[in-house]
This record gives sequence, structure tokens and C-alpha cells, in this order.
Amino acid sequence: MAESGHDLADACRKCGSYCCTYYALPLDEPEDKNDYDDLRWFLMHEGNYIYIEDGDWYLNVMARCGYLLPSGRCAAYRMRPRICREHGGVEDPCEYYSEYTFEKTFLSPEEIEKHAVAMLGLDRDEVEGWFIHEDEGFWSDGQ
Ligand code: SF4
Ligand code: SF4
Repeated sequence: MAESGHDLADACRKCGSYCCTYYALPLDEPEDKNDYDDLRWFLMHEGNYIYIEDGDWYLNVMARCGYLLPSGRCAAYRMRPRICREHGGVEDPCEYYSEYTFEKTFLSPEEIEKHAVAMLGLDRDEVEGWFIHEDEGFWSDGQ
């Protein structure tokens, strides 16, 4: 939620405080199997997705800020962090009113696996050896 210029305040009322309901963190571009396996782990968590924008990788986490009030206002407005204070603005449209296009988006572990297979040049046996482990443990559901 950005500065309280008249136009922007009106815009913020309409969008449902979208920018207070998620955050994105930069990721190192994956280079090997372990890197991709870590990305699979991120994507096993509900609501997470990974995207590439201008060649940079990001993890997007859907998580509503604990200070966002049901009214859409900020319960911490006077002490809100810099990221909130500097976000958006009438002359620098936020993500809700911009036409962002990600180069690529990965919504599930399967999608990042396919990308890994293509980027690392793996064949079918290598993929199964990488992802599927025969160990049966207490936590396994037997699949
Ligand atoms: S996403 Fe944009 S319009 Fe919506 S609350 Fe945030 S700054 Fe305002
Ligand atoms: S502190 Fe306020 S402005 Fe910042 S994300 Fe939370 S509700 Fe939004």
C-alpha cells in the first residue's frame, strides 16, 4: 500500500490491497540438480510460485500481511516498513495497474522439473533417479 496521494488512494481502495497480500524474494538462477530440487521444495508449498522477470528469478509467496485490516487499511500505517512506504505511487504505477509480463512462471513442482530436464539435458532414467527415492519411512503415504 503506497503513499496516500488522492488518485492512488482511490486506486488502492479498488484493488483490495493486493500488494499487502504477498511478497516476492529474489532467487539465484538454478544451475544444477540441487538448485532445481530446492525450487521444487518451494513449489510444494501451497500458494507459492516462481517467476522470471528480465532474466531474474523470484519466489512469490502469497501471505497476507498481519497488519492489513479487513477494511483494507493498514493497522501499522505510521510505522510501516520502507518497502510499503516506497511501493507504488501515482507516477510509478504499482503491479496492479501495470501490465507486467513475466518471461516464465512455474506454478508446480512438475513445471520446474520439466524446465530442469530441458535445461540440464537429462534423460528419463536420470530424472527418475533424481526425483524418485525408494526409501519407505514413517512419513510416507506408500506412494
Ligand atoms: S497493489 Fe497498488 S493499488 Fe493496490 S493497494 Fe497496492 S499500491 Fe495500492
Ligand atoms: S504494513 Fe501496512 S502497508 Fe505494509 S504490507 Fe502490511 S498492511 Fe500493507
